[in-house]
Amino acid sequence: AEPLLSVHDLKKYFPIKSGLLNRTVGHVKAVDGISLNIQAGETFGLVGESGSGKSTVGRTILRLTEKTAGEVRFKGIDLYKLPSEELRQLRPKMQLIFQDPYSSLNPRVRVGDAIGEALLDHGLVPKEEIRDHVLEVLESCGLSSYHVDRFPHEFSGGQRQRIGIARALVLKPELIIADEPVSALDVSIQAQIINLFRKLQEERELSYLFISHDLSVVEHLCNRIGVMYLGSMVETASRDELFRNPLHPYTKALLSAVPIPIPKLKRERILLKGDIPNPANPPSGCKFHTRCPFATAVCKEQVPAFRDVGGKHFVACHLV
Ligand code: SF4
Ligand code: MG
Repeated sequence: AEPLLSVHDLKKYFPIKSGLLNRTVGHVKAVDGISLNIQAGETFGLVGESGSGKSTVGRTILRLTEKTAGEVRFKGIDLYKLPSEELRQLRPKMQLIFQDPYSSLNPRVRVGDAIGEALLDHGLVPKEEIRDHVLEVLESCGLSSYHVDRFPHEFSGGQRQRIGIARALVLKPELIIADEPVSALDVSIQAQIINLFRKLQEERELSYLFISHDLSVVEHLCNRIGVMYLGSMVETASRDELFRNPLHPYTKALLSAVPIPIPKLKRERILLKGDIPNPANPPSGCKFHTRCPFATAVCKEQVPAFRDVGGKHFVACHLV
C-alpha cells in the first residue's frame, strides 16, 4: 500500500552569516538527506542525541520550516507543490506535539477554550457542537468535564501533556509528529503518556512519527526505528531487528544505555565519548568517526553508503 507519509532525501541547510555585510559563509546541514516511510496506523521512531536534526526533520515535513531539497508526500500528495490554501485545509490531518505543551498554552485561556479554538480556527464543526467535541477528546485523553474550565497552571506536567495531545486530537489528525513528548516528565508519568499514545492509536488508527533521544522510550511504541547522527540516518530497521541485531556502532552505543530485559541476551556495550560535534563543521568521511571505537583510516576519508543489508535493515558503516 502507498505509505501515509513518504519522505525522500530530505535536506534542510541553514545559512551561516558573517561580517558587516552579513554574507553567507557556509551552511549548517541540519538535515542532510533523510528518507523514511510511515504506513497508516504505524509508528516510526526517530532517535538520536540532541543536535542530530530530529526536530528539524519533523518541522520540515510539516512545512513549518521550508526544505532545502527532497520530497515529502502525505497520502501521495507532494506537500511542497501544494498551493497554500490547499495546504491549510490539509493541516488538521498532520499535527505536531511538543516536549513542553505549557509553552504553547496561553496561561489566561481555559483549557477547554484552548482546545476548542483549534476547531473554530479550521471551521471543522458548528460552534454549538464544539464543547461536545472538546469533552470527548478530554475524556479520550484521561481528563474530564471537571478540567474543561480550568487554567493551564492548575495542571501537572503529565496532565498538560494530555491537554497538548487532546488539542492535536480534536482536529482528527491522521499523522501526529510527537517531538520528545515525554522527555520533560518523570519516568513513572512517561509510561502513562506512552500508554495513552498507544491507546489512541488503537482507537483512531493514528500514525506517529515519534521523536526521542531515548531508545527505551520508543521501544514499546514503534514498528520501525531510524537512528540519526549529525543530520544523517545511520541505521533503520524494524523495532525487533534493531533491538536484536543492531549493526551501527552509534546504535550500539545508544542501546548500551538501555537496560536489557533478557539477561542471556548478550549485547556489546559501547560507551559514547564526548559530545556530538558542531554541526556547522562536521567530521569528514563517516561523521561518527571522531567518537567511534572501531574507526579506521578509511572512515575519515570516505562517507559510508546507506545500504540494505537484508530484510529492510539499512546501515551506513564501512565495517558492516
Ligand atoms: Fe565507525 Fe567507521 Fe563505521 Fe563510521 S564507518 S561507524 S567510523 S566503523
Ligand atoms: Mg529537538
